Amino acid sequence: MKNIPALFGSMVFNETVMQERLPKEVFEALKKTMSLGTHLELDIANVVANTMKEWAVEKGATHFTHWFQPMTGVTAEKHDSFISPSKDGKVIMEFSGKNLVQGEPDASSFPSGGLRATFEARGYTVWDITSYAFIKDDTLCIPTAFCSYSGEALDKKTPLLRSMEAVDKQALRILRLFGDESTERVQAAVGPEQEYFLIDKEDFQKRPDLIYTGRTLFGIRPPKGQELDDHYFGSLKPRVSAYMKELDQELWKLGIHAKTKHNEVAPAQHELAPIYAAAGIATDHNQLVMETMKSVASRHGLACLLHEKPFAGVNGSGKHNNWSLSTDKGVNLLTPGKTPSENAQFLLFLVAVIKAVDEYQDLLRVSAASAGNDHRLGANEAPPAIISIFLGDELTEILEALESGEKYQGKSASEMEIGVTALPHFSKDTTDRNRTSPFAFTGNKFEFRMLGSAFSIAGPNLILNTTVAEILKEFADRLEGATYFQADLAELIVETFSKHKRVVFNGNNYSDEWVAEAEKRGLSNLKTTVDALPEFVSAKSVKLFTGHNVFSEAELQSRYEIRLEGYCKTIRIEALTMVDMVKGEIIPACIDYQNELSKLLARKKSCGEYDTEPEDYFLDKISKSTSCLLKKLLKLENILLESDDDEPLLSQARSCRDKIYMAMVELRIVADELERLVSKKYWPFPSYGQLLYSVN
Ligand code: ADP
Ligand code: MG
Repeated sequence: MKNIPALFGSMVFNETVMQERLPKEVFEALKKTMSLGTHLELDIANVVANTMKEWAVEKGATHFTHWFQPMTGVTAEKHDSFISPSKDGKVIMEFSGKNLVQGEPDASSFPSGGLRATFEARGYTVWDITSYAFIKDDTLCIPTAFCSYSGEALDKKTPLLRSMEAVDKQALRILRLFGDESTERVQAAVGPEQEYFLIDKEDFQKRPDLIYTGRTLFGIRPPKGQELDDHYFGSLKPRVSAYMKELDQELWKLGIHAKTKHNEVAPAQHELAPIYAAAGIATDHNQLVMETMKSVASRHGLACLLHEKPFAGVNGSGKHNNWSLSTDKGVNLLTPGKTPSENAQFLLFLVAVIKAVDEYQDLLRVSAASAGNDHRLGANEAPPAIISIFLGDELTEILEALESGEKYQGKSASEMEIGVTALPHFSKDTTDRNRTSPFAFTGNKFEFRMLGSAFSIAGPNLILNTTVAEILKEFADRLEGATYFQADLAELIVETFSKHKRVVFNGNNYSDEWVAEAEKRGLSNLKTTVDALPEFVSAKSVKLFTGHNVFSEAELQSRYEIRLEGYCKTIRIEALTMVDMVKGEIIPACIDYQNELSKLLARKKSCGEYDTEPEDYFLDKISKSTSCLLKKLLKLENILLESDDDEPLLSQARSCRDKIYMAMVELRIVADELERLVSKKYWPFPSYGQLLYSVN
């Protein structure tokens, strides 16, 4: 193993490199811009750009790119080389301040949901100074925000940064109420745990469904799945271990604190978690993690699957989003306090999150909605589509005791009174017993577990940040005018918990009883993406996001349309892939096998052999199923032909879900029946067993 501290961040233009290489006054100016978000003067930018280029060229870089996160959900880059012609017919390596701070990629081919009129195709990328530049594939990458000519956000990063500002501003107001004058910044911090599958690349390439859609559209469960629980935390197979080692090293070079890695529940499923960072950086890093997972896999003859449900009947992959608020002084505001006043402050932030989650359940649900995640939410391994919070017994009892005005009888604090008694410290052990909750308090952070593995974490975090900012704003408005701060504070905490405790549920979220109970409590249960998405543009949502300058109404509407459109496209691509696979490979395979069986039958008969039962049995079954498959195929094709692109997007999405998807399910059932009947020699695709168990 190489020297890790030397390796770590070696491809990042970080503060150490800046300090080493930039003139002192330039470094100071840049640092000021980084911490206060002020304007960067062009002369400073020129010096920074030149130093960056020299550093990058020393590391072998030949190109630079503005690296951004358009609404496609993946990152985008347009590479320009550093070369510039010189008078003597040679070239020099050049990179100007203007190149660094702003770019102008053609925006017309990125989804904009109607925000950018086609005649105004220009989009701008602007350096996001909060995130360091880095080198990837011999290219200097400048993390940027991406917006239209008129300043509307066309990417995932911009609104996330705006939401971080919103929560910073409101959280600071609360801290001031508690007499904290020194904290200058409150940051949303995020640690995303990333699940993924690894399969053999050759097998991957034999499956058009994996290639085009990221998930298997056909396939039967192997005789052994995850029922023996022998994969979770199991020892790593040599190929997987070699992969993980290289992955760690590649991520460390990029300054990503890849920390935890292990096998997950399903065969061939694994997890990687980095150490948490500020939400904007965590978002950039998570995109890089996903990208690096794929590229390293390819070098190892593997394919990395990030889809939420690559295999039906086998656990899917999620992304656990660990979220907290921390100050520039290193204090985590979700840590129970050691002193009575810290305790009151903690309780206030805690009930703010409880209220935010209850009042904006639908938006949190929207943040976890996608065609891929629809297969996962409510299945065996993931929380249902109902949002609730797990607080753990101890904290719940403390809040209930405060509410009823009774003494708290728990083991840690003999008597609880807001602002008078210190709270006990909750170790992760006492709070993290429940793995079924979609939103769990785990000692000093909340773990939002509904996200799908392929998601950008920008969306869920901007919703979390904005909803919590809104509640903190309400609290600050009320308490700033309080005559008796302590009394009003206590009243506010108790009142908020009383009103919103319906969203607290410490039991088993996977049970049917909970679904019934949640309905009684009036919690919403938006089962599919199509049910959830309209909540994104509800009057309440518009008020929230515009109120905190996170989205304009037009931006919100455009994102709603992009997501609906994305949903429809995903379903249609899946349907077309199924049609292709059935027509081009499954039916021909069934016919070939029947042909072989018929020839065998004819030979037997001509030899006067009368025991033809096996051939008859399979021929009969396969020919019936193949006819049925053909019917289902024609049905799906017809539905696809009939689908009307002129309908409003929401009705298109509904017919994708109710007609196209249902026809796909019917088609799959018959194709899977045939996989059970047709000889493995003839079946055109690697089986689930092969995919899940062949990497050793
Ligand atoms: P588990 O699987 O037990 O939930 P992991 O170690 O896999 O835990 O992941 C926990 C994640 O939570 C890590 O990314 C970690 O850095 C992150 N985390 C820890 N503390 C905080 C915090 N205060 N705020 C945000 N994320 C945190
Ligand atoms: Mg984990």
